Amino acid sequence: MSETITRPAILILLGPPGAGKGTQARMLEERFGLVQLSTGDLLRAAVAAGTEAGRAAKAVMEAGDLVSDGIVLAILKDRMAEPDTAKGVILDGFPRTPGQAEALDDLLAAQGQKIDAAISIEVDDAAMVARVSGRYTCADCGEGYHDEFKQPVTAGTCDKCGGTTFNRRADDNAETVGARLTAYHASTAPLIAYYEARGVLRTVDGMSAIDAIAGALGEIVTQVTA
Ligand code: AMP
Repeated sequence: MSETITRPAILILLGPPGAGKGTQARMLEERFGLVQLSTGDLLRAAVAAGTEAGRAAKAVMEAGDLVSDGIVLAILKDRMAEPDTAKGVILDGFPRTPGQAEALDDLLAAQGQKIDAAISIEVDDAAMVARVSGRYTCADCGEGYHDEFKQPVTAGTCDKCGGTTFNRRADDNAETVGARLTAYHASTAPLIAYYEARGVLRTVDGMSAIDAIAGALGEIVTQVTA
């Protein structure tokens, strides 16, 4: 059962590919009943469904570049309009450009809301290629695993749901990770200063153990919703 928070929080997880944003967002979702909102997941679903946005995004994502703000914002707005987001959201992989950050501020302001915390998960770039290259997820429940760092207890069977099918992302290979890191430093890292200037920036050490990072993030959620 999730812990009660006194009001819905709007949190942003910032960090390069491999920093652990998705893993941590899922843990926060379970612990606090917040809704994880990953633009990467939404875009992958659009690609799989073959929608117009998905067809436009596919090659861009495979190259490790950023999808246009217009496509991403349209997908994000639709998702934010769904009623479950009223429980509070953890934005994972969004915003990724200053234009997206400004559009998010406007969207929230129109609803009388604002960002409670933008949390930068700080990691060493050098470790990220190995982290991303070995990762895979359960096709049934989405639980994350890694060839080197986190194998299922029983090989080939998901610890969480017993599923036996796993997915690897098309863009989780060494070449594309390099492009994704470059895009992060060029377009997304400047958002750290953007949120610092607005007084909502928090940082956590993303090189610590998964549970230690989860603990640090949990403290921030508890503080900002107190
Ligand atoms: P992620 O799952 O967050 O690693 O995103 C995978 C890919 O989807 C990225 O490399 C981009 O091509 C695209 N993408 C996800 N979120 C965004 C965003 N907010 N802005 C632009 N492109 C995005």
